[in-house]
Amino acid sequence: MNKESILIKLEDIVGKDFATNSSEDLYIYSQDPGASIPRHVDFVVMPGTSVEVQEIVKLANQEKIPIVPMGGGLTLSGLIIPVKGGIVLDMKRMNQIIEINPFSRYALIEAGVTTGQILSHLNDNYPDLQPPIPDAPPSATVAGNMLIHGSGYLSQRYGGHGAMINGLEVVLANGEICKLGSCAVSDYWFDRGPIPDFIGLFISAFGTMGVITKLSIQLFPKPKMRDIIFGLMSDPKDLPDLLLKITATGYAEDILLGKQDKPEWMKGYVFIMTYITGDSEEDIDRQTKTLKRIYRKSNARFMKAPEKMRDLYLDKPIFAAGAADFRKGGGFEYVGAFMPLEKIPEAYEKGADIARKYGITPTLGSRLIGGVHTIVMFFSYSFNRANPQDMENARKALYETNKLALELGGIPWKAELEGQRLILEKMDTSYNKLMKTIQSTLDPNGIMNPGNWEVK
Ligand SMILES: Cc1cc2nc3c(=O)[nH]c(=O)nc-3n(C[C@H](O)[C@H](O)[C@H](O)COP(=O)(O)OP(=O)(O)OC[C@H]3O[C@@H](n4cnc5c(N)ncnc54)[C@H](O)[C@@H]3O)c2cc1C
Repeated sequence: MNKESILIKLEDIVGKDFATNSSEDLYIYSQDPGASIPRHVDFVVMPGTSVEVQEIVKLANQEKIPIVPMGGGLTLSGLIIPVKGGIVLDMKRMNQIIEINPFSRYALIEAGVTTGQILSHLNDNYPDLQPPIPDAPPSATVAGNMLIHGSGYLSQRYGGHGAMINGLEVVLANGEICKLGSCAVSDYWFDRGPIPDFIGLFISAFGTMGVITKLSIQLFPKPKMRDIIFGLMSDPKDLPDLLLKITATGYAEDILLGKQDKPEWMKGYVFIMTYITGDSEEDIDRQTKTLKRIYRKSNARFMKAPEKMRDLYLDKPIFAAGAADFRKGGGFEYVGAFMPLEKIPEAYEKGADIARKYGITPTLGSRLIGGVHTIVMFFSYSFNRANPQDMENARKALYETNKLALELGGIPWKAELEGQRLILEKMDTSYNKLMKTIQSTLDPNGIMNPGNWEVK
């Protein structure tokens, strides 16, 4: 590869200020805040338009250089660190909110729009609408989160975020710009459309299928009031019964669970937070009474939380970053695994065992998705980035946790390379074959984030 001539071509496409291969600029892109080992980056490019993305993809095809699309780079599992070198395509300049449609309740945005940006835009201009966003830091992009099928405070009621994509504009690996969803037929980006649905190809694909330049996401009405019913349970075995009863009421907007050894008062308990919404105090009171009864009958104790704590958790999205750095060393990664509900008690027990084995404070949690059709289980490991042994322990714990999730019938979410390999090993061979056929058809030169979802 002639790096100098490629840099000149990249600069011609995006302008001198937005393409680089200087080592100071590449350094930060060679790593992420998780436990992955830093890897080599050849170029960083920040396109400003879909046409510029198209030109970059065409160039990458000619030169056979890998492209790694990146949003906020906050996935933690190394997904935006190139496996085989190449161009990191930092999408943050493409940050236009193109349209808010308050009737069909969608937002059409460019791929670099952050979760903080869409939230404040709606708060300022459409105070009755709310976006589906995660509890991640506000510099995470909406696209990055939707494309990894993330979840957030609206997911128990409305489903996972990947399912809330109405339409995409994609630059395919061959450089063609393609629209998917109702926008392929209509001026309105209101639905995936009653046409063959290919949007799923780009979800959980980690940039291996193409570069998303625009997307339409569903928006939801904002409730007048929101409250939390806190509870404590000493035996996780009672969780499935409790969760089935809560979800059957239809009251819960969000259900979050946590079990951790720190702070001391939480040790030995599963912490339950059921969020409810309503139009009036009476509405909230009625739901609260029903839920307290359900907690009692399922061996959970209702807990009156201090106002300060209640206010902290009522702020949606919650400030999860504050709780991530137990180790005080700036390192944090978790296996999030999509799990069947009945395996949750075992996941809590065995997850804590893995953490203790590697000298890490057990920090476990879960969020329900789509009325208990899935539960995402978080096995979190914080580590001191300045301590190589600490990081190695976290990597070992993450690996064992991926194996545990698969053994329990779950599937690791936004899995790092090792996790992806374990999933592929367990995957039905015909699914493997189909993936390979699609990959090689769309991307014969293997330029799209190669090394990820690498089917042998
Ligand atoms: C403290 C903390 C709390 C978190 N809480 C949550 C939570 O509640 N829910 C949740 O879901 N996640 C959570 N996360 C995980 C993660 O931060 C978020 O999901 C985040 O939204 C990911 O977005 P991103 O822009 O950082 O994606 P990135 O890491 O930049 O990208 C994610 C993946 O998408 C691909 N990609 C990005 N942009 C494009 C594009 N334009 N075209 C094609 N592929 C693309 C990338 O290649 C990569 O594979 C949390 C993380 C932290 C650190």
